Amino acid sequence: MNEKREMIRVEKLNKSFGDLHVLKDIDLEVKESDVVVLIGASGSGKSTLLRCLNFLEIKDNGTVILEGEKIEKETHNLNKVREKVGMVFQHFNLFPHKTVLGNVIEAPTQVKGVEKKKAIEEGKSLLDKVGLSDKYDVYPSKLSGGQKQRVAIARALAMKPDVMLFDEPTSALDPELVGEVLLTMKELAKEGMTMVVVTHEMGFAKEVADWVVYMHDGKIVEYGHPSEMFENPKEERTKAFLNSVL
Ligand code: ADP
Ligand code: MG
Repeated sequence: MNEKREMIRVEKLNKSFGDLHVLKDIDLEVKESDVVVLIGASGSGKSTLLRCLNFLEIKDNGTVILEGEKIEKETHNLNKVREKVGMVFQHFNLFPHKTVLGNVIEAPTQVKGVEKKKAIEEGKSLLDKVGLSDKYDVYPSKLSGGQKQRVAIARALAMKPDVMLFDEPTSALDPELVGEVLLTMKELAKEGMTMVVVTHEMGFAKEVADWVVYMHDGKIVEYGHPSEMFENPKEERTKAFLNSVL
């Protein structure tokens, strides 16, 4: 047996905002070092699903199991749980009054109590990794969008998460800056990070995803390996969606 460890399991997850039923009986499994790419039209519930995975949104019912542990807001400190699940957003939300390095060491020092010297050392090494070794002391306003997003990735990694969630990390970028962010994500995937990625970058999905999940109207319509999903989708809805984006 060489079964990979289960990192996330979602069962029959439902979420509504008022009368709007946004997630409908979602089942999802993510194993260690898997890259799962979520695709689907705007409004299909992709962001809400990601936010339920790190408890920025609380499900109405169903189960979210992280690394074998069923997480409930009544029994768990969600801030603590969230440390295990890093998230990168479309808009980078960097602290404008802190330097690049200051942004990266903020959470480890303030939330986790990591010693500043150690946080700086680790923060620099993360910034080196995302190709920003010459930007430690620069303020975010001096960076390009692609550089800002790479800082955001380093900042999330600084908490040493077991899973990384990406919600359209390149959608706000000028086209010429998309590649550098995707490359950083590819390297992270290659190192074995477990990742759930919402993106419209189908090239990235084809190349990097282990699994592609197609959502429509709050439901998972189809999932499969990228080769199956892109070459031979089974569902008419998936075909129509892929025709519209490919
Ligand atoms: P996607 O990321 O696939 O575009 P979302 O998960 O953002 O989809 O949204 C799914 C649906 O839920 C949309 O109709 C959106 O307007 C609605 N929605 C998302 N967040 C909220 C919220 N906080 N309050 C009310 N409605 C919301
Ligand atoms: Mg979204």
